[in-house]
Amino acid sequence: MTDVSTDHLIGCPQCDAVYSVTQTQAGQQANCTRCGHRLIAPRSKAGMQIIMLNITIAVLVVAAAVFPFLTISAAGLSNSVSILQAALAFSDGILVLLALATAALIIFIPLLRVLLSLYVLIPVVFDRPPARGAARAFRLSEALRPWSMAEIFAIGCAVALVKVTDLADVQFGPAFWMFTVLVFLVVLQDTFLCRWSVWNSLDKSKA
Ligand SMILES: [Zn+2]
Repeated sequence: MTDVSTDHLIGCPQCDAVYSVTQTQAGQQANCTRCGHRLIAPRSKAGMQIIMLNITIAVLVVAAAVFPFLTISAAGLSNSVSILQAALAFSDGILVLLALATAALIIFIPLLRVLLSLYVLIPVVFDRPPARGAARAFRLSEALRPWSMAEIFAIGCAVALVKVTDLADVQFGPAFWMFTVLVFLVVLQDTFLCRWSVWNSLDKSKA
């Protein structure tokens, strides 16, 4: 064992500048002086808000998958379809893989991230010892971040539908609006979550 401890060091994920951490009070922020990236922003009560946000996101993702996403009417016929139905529609050959990948990106990965965050955050927020494997769970949740595409999907659909409106009468179902709300909630949750604070509290209780 060496005496050199890296515990007080924080690296900027944007530009790799390394800083030594001084204790940051709730409400204060630490930004990278080179690129301005926000490094630390602990907020009191943030934990509870993030937990509530995560629960809301989980409910919305499930609801958005099963409620009708859109209704298309043409020549007197109308048909409404949910995301889950749409994904399952590709049921033959290689398209099954595509359907599974689509469903994973827009439903299962966002849901898994929410559940992992809750698993990590609930004990931390309630001042309990961290859950088993919490660090690994948090790392996985962070690694999945770029693959969680519910919001991008919603935006993509909206753009695609603008083109279809010439051919048929398209109406957005409740699931579309749920995805729209999800876009904002996911961004909000991402902004609220101070990753440094989470790692710090997982670390502290390990020692
Ligand atoms: Zn930086």
